[in-house]
Amino acid sequence: MTAPEPGKGPALVGLGLGANLGDPAANLRRAVEALARAGLRFEALSSLYRTRPWGVTDQPDFVNACALARTDLEPLALLDLIQATEQALGRQPTLRWGPRVIDIDLLFYDDRIWRDARLTLPHPGLMERAFVLLPMAEIAPETRIGGVRLAEAAGKIDAGGVLRIGGFKPFCR
Ligand code: ADP
Ligand code: MG
Repeated sequence: MTAPEPGKGPALVGLGLGANLGDPAANLRRAVEALARAGLRFEALSSLYRTRPWGVTDQPDFVNACALARTDLEPLALLDLIQATEQALGRQPTLRWGPRVIDIDLLFYDDRIWRDARLTLPHPGLMERAFVLLPMAEIAPETRIGGVRLAEAAGKIDAGGVLRIGGFKPFCR
């Protein structure tokens, strides 16, 4: 784990958002608004993407998007906030990869490496799942994960089943 450098200021974090119950796009927006109220400073929001479900395929399509934000919270405190936000938006316990009102994943936290029972950084799905990689590469193309530029990884991944539908950018502050 890399210790934060003194005087470096707030961390830059990548968030992945997804929903496929209720009004998914509205749920993503509510999640961003709740996190902003809790102190995250959003610097970029991707477009919205309609994506075919992954893992458990017998469920409604997802809407996915990614965000870049600044925070002074340490990684586990940010995970606490993310999970409290999911609860506040009405997320119920469900099977893994099952339908949900909102899913918020912490994709990266600066260039910190983290691996414990609660948190893995960078998120292991980031470079493997087009529905996360494409929106994240849209707003952070030069970010490197394990030495690989997101733009380069996005150019190589199978983007089938992931369709840009636009529409999130107006909420960026
Ligand atoms: P998934 O997002 O894989 O569909 P959940 O949202 O239910 O599943 O999260 C499952 C667990 O993943 C959570 O209990 C959380 O502690 C853990 N987790 C590990 N790393 C991360 C991360 N980078 N971001 C979010 N959750 C994480
Ligand atoms: Mg999750």
